[in-house]
Amino acid sequence: MDKKPIAQSEDLTQTGQGAAPAWQPPKVTPAPRRGGVSPQVEKALTDVRSKVYPRAVTGLYARWRVIMVLFTQAIFYGLPWLTWGDRQAVLFDLGARKFYIFGMVLWPQDVVYLAVLLVLSAFALFLFTAIAGRLFCGYACPQTVYTEIFMWVERKIEGDRLARIRLDGQPWSWRKFRLKAAKHVVWIVIAFWTGFTFIGYFAPIRALGADLIAFSLGPWQWFWMLFYAFATWGNAGFMREAVCKYMCPYARFQSVMVDDDTFVVTYDYKRGEPRGGRSRQIDHKEAGMGDCVDCTLCVQVCPTGIDIRDGLQYMCIGCGACVDACDQVMDKVGYPKGLIRYTSGAAITEDLTQSQARKRVLRPRVLFYMGLMAVIAAGFAFSLFTRETLKMDIIRDRGSLGREIPGNLIENVYRLQIMNTDDKALTVTLRADGLPGLELLAATGEPTGTIEVAGGSHRLVPVLVRLPADQAGPGVHSISFVASAESASGSGAQLVEQTSFYVPQ
Ligand code: SF4
Ligand code: SF4
Repeated sequence: MDKKPIAQSEDLTQTGQGAAPAWQPPKVTPAPRRGGVSPQVEKALTDVRSKVYPRAVTGLYARWRVIMVLFTQAIFYGLPWLTWGDRQAVLFDLGARKFYIFGMVLWPQDVVYLAVLLVLSAFALFLFTAIAGRLFCGYACPQTVYTEIFMWVERKIEGDRLARIRLDGQPWSWRKFRLKAAKHVVWIVIAFWTGFTFIGYFAPIRALGADLIAFSLGPWQWFWMLFYAFATWGNAGFMREAVCKYMCPYARFQSVMVDDDTFVVTYDYKRGEPRGGRSRQIDHKEAGMGDCVDCTLCVQVCPTGIDIRDGLQYMCIGCGACVDACDQVMDKVGYPKGLIRYTSGAAITEDLTQSQARKRVLRPRVLFYMGLMAVIAAGFAFSLFTRETLKMDIIRDRGSLGREIPGNLIENVYRLQIMNTDDKALTVTLRADGLPGLELLAATGEPTGTIEVAGGSHRLVPVLVRLPADQAGPGVHSISFVASAESASGSGAQLVEQTSFYVPQ
């Protein structure tokens, strides 16, 4: 029979320290200032400088992180390669000021949709944070996702936590140089591919690929590709948890969005304390000990290097790695899982069961966010799908407001900007309404006839509007332009835009 203390016998600990006193909230010990720097600042500076070596972990939440990495990256890397008809399916063509999203073409006039989308995203963030804390940070934030990818490469090349700590502590050797160089080559390839994909959302990616192979990218394309690649390499390879801890503003204001009923990664201190290593032969409850064997595995797997047993901290990105690690420890020592788990603060302090805690998730603020999001999303979808495919801007000729021409006619000059926001060509006919005897002509004085506007494009059409002089007195009169459009498939649309017609004295 194994007579060693649990924490040591299972190779789960590097700090098995024996039974600890009952758990207390972490205390900040006042210490004298050194050189004008407070102890808190000194500790923060030390934390920034010390490197975190997260240990690999397997389990439910690790699997979810892998799934989310694959899912988000399949979308990011794959989307620009999809085609829709004869063009790229998703393309934000800033030069032409048009956004192509599958069958939809958005123009600068549609910027309101972008604004509504941002508002919806903000409310989604509020909602998910109120329900389950930093879910986005732990599973979908680009910083977390790329750090996961880069750490996976690092583990494959340099080994897991202890091997990496040893390698970094060794003096430079051929082996160390080889491992470090291999790691950086793979990181740089991933970073370049990421930068290339990023610019592929703003310029057709197939043409970009050909230009890249021929080294004939434009200066801005080079700049943005290298900038994005450098940011990926720096953030995921070096900055890592420092971005989450010191740079991300979301970490700082999330505390106003979570409350006692929010599900967050929580250490059950009532169950875990007093912590400490113990022998398998003793009944730890009888010995007055809690379930935490103080193996520190939860700290070793944490990508931000914190100890969740100190309570909820703004540095916790809610990734669940410590939950997986602790569940494995609990399995090995034969205690129930869930010493660290996703639950609410109220569940611990008020001894609620998981189902009781879940019932409290649907509280007024969550219902408010849900209701508001449902209304905004419904309005957004309705407006998007009933959006006019035909748009028209009317620009008056400021040089000649209105003039008399032979034949006792009054003539006004306009320029019509006709936009086809659909991806199919439209045949447009125009007429002017609002005053008896109004006549609409092309700038040449001929009838306007039909105007072809290709899919996702616009036409500038100069026109003349003429009126018999005896049909309206001097001054400004309201008239309208009516544009009727028909596509090859027979679907039609009509647009009426108001403007003014000026009759001189
Ligand atoms: S909480 Fe779990 S993983 Fe962390 S030290 Fe205690 S037993 Fe180990
Ligand atoms: S404390 Fe746990 S959930 Fe929070 S960042 Fe560390 S490992 Fe992830």
